Amino acid sequence: MEHPENDNTYKGLKVNQGVSDVPTVNPYLKKRLQRKQYTPSEYVENILKGNITILSQAVTLVESAKHEHQQLAQEIIEKCLPFAGKSVRIGITGVPGAGKSTSIDVFGMHLIKDGHKLAVLAIDPSSERSKGSILGDKTRMEALSREQNAFIRPSPSAGSLGGVARKTRETIVLCEAAGFDTVFVETVGVGQSETAVHSMVDFFLLIQLAGTGDELQGIKRGIMEMADGIIINKADGDNIDKANLAAAQFRNALHLFPPAESGWFPKVLTYSGYYNVGIKEIWDMIDEYIKFTKKNGFFYCKRNEQAKYWMYESINDTLKDKFYHNPAVESMLEATEKQVLNNELSSFVAAKRMIDMFLDELSKNK
Ligand code: GDP
Repeated sequence: MEHPENDNTYKGLKVNQGVSDVPTVNPYLKKRLQRKQYTPSEYVENILKGNITILSQAVTLVESAKHEHQQLAQEIIEKCLPFAGKSVRIGITGVPGAGKSTSIDVFGMHLIKDGHKLAVLAIDPSSERSKGSILGDKTRMEALSREQNAFIRPSPSAGSLGGVARKTRETIVLCEAAGFDTVFVETVGVGQSETAVHSMVDFFLLIQLAGTGDELQGIKRGIMEMADGIIINKADGDNIDKANLAAAQFRNALHLFPPAESGWFPKVLTYSGYYNVGIKEIWDMIDEYIKFTKKNGFFYCKRNEQAKYWMYESINDTLKDKFYHNPAVESMLEATEKQVLNNELSSFVAAKRMIDMFLDELSKNK
């Protein structure tokens, strides 16, 4: 007998015959993972038709760090460019807790009810560090995320601010080609990301709160100078007087700044995102700005300036990337850095050596 315990007279535990191992991996998984490979033209064709699934996939390519994905993404972007540029791009910033998500949800619904198609993008370079984006998370915009005419995309998470911003800039092109006529670019008002957002939007909206001392912080950081509109949120309940007072303070402060190049004088409004009060006025202000700057030509002038800015950003990014990923540079960088730290080499001589070596490598590989 194989197991004495299986004898009827045995009083202890019985041991049953085992079963063979079941596979731990779904055998069909591989098949499902093989997503259809589209050609750039197929991507573009579907994007132009407003196919959100394909648009999302194309955005994923834009965000990918893989070389072949980037190549494909660039081809798609180039083919989409002639169909882009027709949206109104609005930057929205404010410190965490200012009410960005609540407001974007309400602003977005206001636009969608008006027949618009809205894309909500974000620039949040901190998201990689904090593991999981604090921006663009669909659950924060409950009403909007259920709308067919809204496309919500969290911030690209990889890399430097410049890299993250460039990806968002490229995503705008794809969204516009897909027929989104309004684009929001959201950012947290705590760092340098405002400048990046400012360089890709037509109108820059600053959300502020009354009585938190943020008024002055805004002035210090120069964010106020970038704002085309300052809106003071949570003007509801006991907070209405405080919000009105803050609005008056902002209006006064704005007078201290030199006039904006656009010829537009930034407006200050109060509203309540939560109670949906004062939203139409905000949209009237933006409409007025767009009309005003289209009439005096600033709108197009700014877009040209932005296009130029992104060309140089792109050149800088590419050069940097090529430099730091060059195998010869990679192999020498650490040692050279050590020499600088040990005072064996000056920073400038070290930099020149590395760059000369890089250029040398390039000419060798020709
Ligand atoms: P975010 O961090 O800038 O995205 O801010 P949220 O939209 O998450 O809002 C932060 C908090 O402020 C939440 O608890 C909201 O419910 C609240 N809040 C947002 N808008 C308003 C408003 O208009 N009035 C009031 N009383 N509370 C608001």
